Amino acid sequence: MKIVVNGMSANLRFSSAHIIPGHNFCGFIHGHSYFVDIEIEGDRFGDFNFVVDFKDIKNSARNVCKSLDHRLLIPIFNKYTEFKGLKPEDISIEVFNNIENLKFSVKGKKYAIPKSDAILLPLDDSSAESLAEYFNEIIFKDLKNKGYNNINSISVGVNEGIGQGAIFTKKIN
Ligand SMILES: [Zn+2]
Repeated sequence: MKIVVNGMSANLRFSSAHIIPGHNFCGFIHGHSYFVDIEIEGDRFGDFNFVVDFKDIKNSARNVCKSLDHRLLIPIFNKYTEFKGLKPEDISIEVFNNIENLKFSVKGKKYAIPKSDAILLPLDDSSAESLAEYFNEIIFKDLKNKGYNNINSISVGVNEGIGQGAIFTKKIN
């Protein structure tokens, strides 16, 4: 059985700025009004014979949306991005814990921004493709922690507005 959550209707949305470093068109800071669609296949189980309670999926996805909303998305493992004072091999999310102002350069372009205005992501880039994988991983882990062992596959689509998006499918069984 498959269940579907439509992000536009269920209000799984966020508005963020990002850069695709090095890209000739998307390499400039710009924004999208994103929305997130989710499909989960699995066996029905439990007191209510659901695949997954819609509330659990939406809560999980909404938390990720909230964490990204109204921020500049910064993928910390991007190959074109150099963070001032940090060697590429030392970079992790934790390294930034005590840093209040982010200074980085992308192919000679220099940026400085308060960390409070950004969200650091453990990703190579902030494309719809990478964000779909990111959402998928977090939502799946979250549902597993809530006791869902019946999921066979989970697909998450991250849409950069209407008309373009990426879907990442994780197959479990
Ligand atoms: Zn973009």
